[in-house]
Amino acid sequence: MDELPILPTTVIGSYPRPKWLREAIRLHKAGKVSDEELTEAFNDAALAVLHDHYLAGIDVPTDGEVKRDEMVEYFAERLGGFKFYGPVRVWGTAYYRKPAVVGKIEYKSPLLVDEFNYTKSVSYTPNVKITITGPYTIAYWSYNEYYKDMKDLVFDLAKIINKELHNLVDAGARIIQIDEPAIHSNKKDVSWAVEAVNEAVKGINAKLVVHICYGDYRIVAPYLNEFKVDQINFALKIYNYRYLELFKKYGYEKELGLGVIDVHSRRVESAEEVAKDIKNSLEYFPAEKIWINPDCGLKLLPRSIAFQKLVNMVKGTKMVREELKK
Ligand SMILES: [Zn+2]
Repeated sequence: MDELPILPTTVIGSYPRPKWLREAIRLHKAGKVSDEELTEAFNDAALAVLHDHYLAGIDVPTDGEVKRDEMVEYFAERLGGFKFYGPVRVWGTAYYRKPAVVGKIEYKSPLLVDEFNYTKSVSYTPNVKITITGPYTIAYWSYNEYYKDMKDLVFDLAKIINKELHNLVDAGARIIQIDEPAIHSNKKDVSWAVEAVNEAVKGINAKLVVHICYGDYRIVAPYLNEFKVDQINFALKIYNYRYLELFKKYGYEKELGLGVIDVHSRRVESAEEVAKDIKNSLEYFPAEKIWINPDCGLKLLPRSIAFQKLVNMVKGTKMVREELKK
């Protein structure tokens, strides 16, 4: 990993897919675009996202996860033991193909190594981040029709994720983020769910990050220091930062990824607003321990808005860096 400025800027992972990629996927399903052509389209889309991140000035980019349809489905499709029924409605008119666990989870072949190798080969910085969905979230968003209890399923998934992380590190991954948006869904599960994440990252020599977003952080706050990772990033802007006080109360001591962009709103935060929010957070945690990121993935926003939000996020961060120099 190369040296980073103070208050490094990053993204959570996903970014809007270029419209033409959605069209290429549709044509591939219809048999009008070959596998090889689709791979090329995926790679070109990753390049386009990295270029947006470069133009915005992001210190630690991703490829926008443009090669993954969805954060659980992608993994369930590639592991043994899963089966898909029909789509379930998650909200409004949004549907999600919920996988079912029908046998012992098996690691068949690397999941993200090709994706990472391509991203690394075209990235403008070696400080590229690779994201993977965590064991609790994969299990929580699937039907369990095989394991006696959910805990057994989660720990089997943790072992498999650990194998994948070893392969990613061997391929050169230096910054790895485990996405666990569901980890605070059930109060009685949190303590062992954190243990499962620790099992997933066991022996992994990389900068390790956990992403936790929407929900009640009071459930997970007492356990945050138990994660064996370097950093946790959170959706905070949407809650007007009210959880910072809670993290401080529990003596949170890792790096904090500060969500300063509301990804559920099309309103573009100004650079001044971002700067003000960062400065307020400095009343709770030292600048040396803070990274700057959006609340969550930007996937569901129009691309032009997602881009402008990142541009202003970086501008606002640079304003604070200048002030810190004085
Ligand atoms: Zn999220």
